[in-house]
Amino acid sequence: MVKKPINYKLLSTAGTFRTDDLNILTLLFPAVYCNAGEIFASYGFQCPIGWYGLLYRLSESIQSEIISNNNYTNFSVEQVKEKFGILAFYYEYGDNIEWLRPKINEFISIAVKESGNTCRICGKDVKIRGMNLYWRCDDH
Ligand SMILES: [Zn+2]
Repeated sequence: MVKKPINYKLLSTAGTFRTDDLNILTLLFPAVYCNAGEIFASYGFQCPIGWYGLLYRLSESIQSEIISNNNYTNFSVEQVKEKFGILAFYYEYGDNIEWLRPKINEFISIAVKESGNTCRICGKDVKIRGMNLYWRCDDH
């Protein structure tokens, strides 16, 4: 059975966005997303629209790194989702370029940290967290 991706349909200050709108990132950063694995190819981004900015910066960093090393054909995004309220970004990389992995993991850990301080609806910084895992700013 094919599961449909979660459709958040969240309201933001700029209008109504769907998590599907994150798919524009696959067009902006083809080197990162063109060799997607089965899960990403089926479900796309399984995370809130408020993470657009941090995912944009993460994708930009990864693309720049793998293009400058001419190794994008070995990069494959497996899954991009929300797990326990923060970003989980899984990928595969060819063994022959294993040495690039620490750099990419560093980019990912920056984005993961940021996802825990970002309003999931509008992307603004969240200074004070509630007791739940779903960070939101004062407006939301
Ligand atoms: Zn907000």
